[in-house]
Amino acid sequence: MNKFKYNITTFGCQMNKNDSERMRSILEGMGLESTSDETEADVILLNSCSVRESAEARIYSKTNNISKLKKKKPNLIVCVTGCMPGRDKDGEIKRRLKEVDLFFKNEEMVNLPKWLCGLNPDFDEIETEKKYLKVKPVYKSKFQAFVPIQTGCNHFCTYCAVPYARGTEINRPLKDILEEINCLSEKGYKEVTLLGEIVNHYTAEDPEYFSKNNKYIKSDFAKLLWEINQIKGIERIHWTGPHPIYMDDEVIDALTLPKQVNFLHLPVQSGSTKILEKMNRRHDREFFIDLVKRIKDKKPDIAIGTDLIVGFCGETSEDFEETLDMYRECDFDIAYPAKYSTRSGTVAADNFNDDVSQEEKKRRWFAVQDLMEEITLKKNQEFLNKKVSVLVERFKDGWCEGQSSEMRLTRFKGEESMVGTIQNPEIYKADIWLLWGRLV
Ligand code: SF4
Repeated sequence: MNKFKYNITTFGCQMNKNDSERMRSILEGMGLESTSDETEADVILLNSCSVRESAEARIYSKTNNISKLKKKKPNLIVCVTGCMPGRDKDGEIKRRLKEVDLFFKNEEMVNLPKWLCGLNPDFDEIETEKKYLKVKPVYKSKFQAFVPIQTGCNHFCTYCAVPYARGTEINRPLKDILEEINCLSEKGYKEVTLLGEIVNHYTAEDPEYFSKNNKYIKSDFAKLLWEINQIKGIERIHWTGPHPIYMDDEVIDALTLPKQVNFLHLPVQSGSTKILEKMNRRHDREFFIDLVKRIKDKKPDIAIGTDLIVGFCGETSEDFEETLDMYRECDFDIAYPAKYSTRSGTVAADNFNDDVSQEEKKRRWFAVQDLMEEITLKKNQEFLNKKVSVLVERFKDGWCEGQSSEMRLTRFKGEESMVGTIQNPEIYKADIWLLWGRLV
């Protein structure tokens, strides 16, 4: 008998990607096989993102297309999980997704075997872990892994749907985190990326698992970084996303640990104190600029990236100029600008006017983009004739490609056997989005 097949499409952040790896593990445990062809699938799973209106629009349009597949294959089971179910308090989203059979929050994935067997008794029902973060992921890569250390958020920034979609902050037990990373190192994994909505606010419920040597460190997150630095085999540690207000001296010190990548993603969202306050970011412009200075005093060559929202409610041209001005002052290496869009159920949606026109949001978005490209190109030129450390992710037509420790995509001539290893090419050409190197 042919095996049943599943297809997963993941939208949004690394947290969703990691959740998809856990769902793969459950589905494969039930004997289903992965397929990249939706027309072959018996189960289609969409892991949704609610960060922007456009991300949700893609789910609506995708489910419309899938409804055509369902006409040809009536037994097809369509599931939507991720952020949309979490924030659908009044059932409005579910009502719009008529063709969807299962609509559930990520944390409910442990019920998948029971639910799928209820819809198709030919599936094998299996026992799973009761808590979804205990489910062992089927990692996509053989040398890089996402490791969630926390889910949810208590901060309620006024524009953000995450606390509604994923709930309030829950920290994963330290024992589970260390076990997972030790197990990854035994399997030959080189890089781990720690995930959390406010990753640097991590608090261990079982601190007795920290080794005695680091008892002089107060911050649990800094301790965790120190701890992972001791794990043999792991060569690169990356984490995302921190909140500026929890970047204390100990966490800044941890940026100098030997396995820490030379990159920090530090979301600021706006350069205007007035707008930061309206966003409930709990710090002002001066605090952030000073924080970047403190980080660079400790680690002068670190690359820093940020997130920006342009056209937030009440953002004037002057406020936006302050964002551009801050960008120059902080000399960011990269930014992920987003045009503000209202997310229903948030404080901003209920209380503020989305009063910046689409045209003006677009203009501001391009202004950030232009400034970023100018600064990024200039900063990339500084790598010329220097060696960078690259974890090779792919090989094609004689070229190796991967991210440098500063999260610069780097390409150089190499061999297939280099995939999964760290190489140190010397840079001879620098474009905006690509460094060209050679092994010397
Ligand atoms: Fe959302 Fe703010 Fe929490 Fe980040 S800190 S997840 S932006 S509420």
